[in-house]
Amino acid sequence: MKMRLILAGYNVDLDALKEYKQRRTLLTPESISAAYARISRSPKPVDVLREISRREVARARKSNRTIIFEMGHHSVAEHAVFNFDIIGISRRAIEEFERFRLCSYTEKSQRYVTLKGDYLVPRELQDRQLRKEFRSIIRQQNELYVRLFDKIKKHNFEKLAALTKERQDKRLLENLAKEDARYILSLATQTQVGATVNARNIELMIRRFASHPLGEVRELGEKLFKLVKRVAPSIILFYEANDYDKKTYGEIERQCRKMLAVQTVRNDSDVELVGHTADGDSRILAAFVFKSSHGNYDSCLRSVKKMSKKKRIELFKKACAHLELYDVVLREFEYADLSYALVVSGGCFGQLKRHRMASITWSDYDPRLGITVPESIKEVDEEERFLELIKGVDELYYKIENTRPGIGSYILTNAHRRRVLMKVNLRELYHVSRLREDPTAQWDIRDKAHKMSALAKRALPITTLLLGGKSDYPQVYRRLYGRFPKVRQVPVP
Ligand SMILES: Cc1cc2nc3c(=O)[nH]c(=O)nc-3n(C[C@H](O)[C@H](O)[C@H](O)COP(=O)(O)OP(=O)(O)OC[C@H]3O[C@@H](n4cnc5c(N)ncnc54)[C@H](O)[C@@H]3O)c2cc1C
Repeated sequence: MKMRLILAGYNVDLDALKEYKQRRTLLTPESISAAYARISRSPKPVDVLREISRREVARARKSNRTIIFEMGHHSVAEHAVFNFDIIGISRRAIEEFERFRLCSYTEKSQRYVTLKGDYLVPRELQDRQLRKEFRSIIRQQNELYVRLFDKIKKHNFEKLAALTKERQDKRLLENLAKEDARYILSLATQTQVGATVNARNIELMIRRFASHPLGEVRELGEKLFKLVKRVAPSIILFYEANDYDKKTYGEIERQCRKMLAVQTVRNDSDVELVGHTADGDSRILAAFVFKSSHGNYDSCLRSVKKMSKKKRIELFKKACAHLELYDVVLREFEYADLSYALVVSGGCFGQLKRHRMASITWSDYDPRLGITVPESIKEVDEEERFLELIKGVDELYYKIENTRPGIGSYILTNAHRRRVLMKVNLRELYHVSRLREDPTAQWDIRDKAHKMSALAKRALPITTLLLGGKSDYPQVYRRLYGRFPKVRQVPVP
């Protein structure tokens, strides 16, 4: 399937929409960003500034260029927001697209949608024999996917027969089969995404993609540029490939190879806590004292450190007493960081990378890290067939890497692994844990989230007292407070 990028929408001034019916006003988000940009210097009310921008789009564009690029007031471009449909993009390229944190994405789930076998042969793979082998392996992966899906579904229905009376239970068992069968699918598998991105991020994406080593990602950048430039030419200016984006990581890699003998594969554990804020508990509690007193932070920290454990727990309990299931813990929980070194499967990484309030650095997939085989595949006696095919995948990966380094990962599967360095503050860990330690989360990421939480509890024993998955929250809360938390009812419309 050919990649398609569709501009699905962008924000326009509502008054411009009304005027559009009477006289053809240009509908562009640029008039809003230009009007807002003038707020900082003009005494005129903002609705008047909008009106001026709408009437004089050419001047609005000129003013955008000056304010954003000459004066460096880049955040003005964030007032222009675009929606894109992206169809026929590989899972590999999606990893590059979803690197950008201040954007919103919704992606076709391999857990809920039965896949039809659409895939991409990377354009860099010019060698005819390699292309043939690539297609052949993908065909085998797709065939095994269908076989695994059928067998695991049947197995699930037999194992959990009592559950399958209700239609939604049947769907759940089917989805569980999909989520495990997909471990044999490669990163060349195509998917679709809906994305909402502001112009500041679009410009950054276009610039980064222009320098990207993967042709598919460069194509995505070119398509983005073509669509957005037409609607909002004044906010997309620095879009060309450049040495900083193109060369830096390659040069770091070569330098490291020269200088260091890094042990590339060690049989270490899949979740390690490699660093955390010393006195993290005290720092979070001190931030509460700071917020509510007029003392300087150092004196707050000293006071907290002198407190007995009982008093520290009391302070923590006060901060969370009214915390209901869907509430976020207070911002002061951001004053302790935790850094994890993880080894995760492609399937798990696809989910982990979606947590945008984290710092995530990853290295390429590496077959030497082994693979993750879902238990259900073992239960239906398909492990041998699975491993046999993975052997073929690995051989082809090395063949491709020898001729076109960096392209081999397209053939690797959701079962292959990579190393990830992930730094979160405790507030984000609460969020990750709530979502991902819950039984509704997929087993692979649930396992990693559980291990991350266990390590955090040792490092920050007080401020993690309520850490856990959504479904455990009432019990966890009760253990600490001796009563269940309040449950806010969802209003009936
Ligand atoms: C059971 C389950 C099923 C899922 N299924 C799918 C699926 O089918 N398809 C799919 O694409 N994704 C799916 N996801 C991923 C999900 O949509 C989120 O992208 C992911 O869980 C990251 O969580 P988050 O967006 O809440 O928070 P994070 O990105 O971790 O950010 C933390 C918090 O910061 C705030 N925040 C961050 N960015 C923004 C923003 N731009 N605007 C406003 N607030 C922001 C929010 O309060 C957010 O909760 C699924 C997740 C779960 C747990």
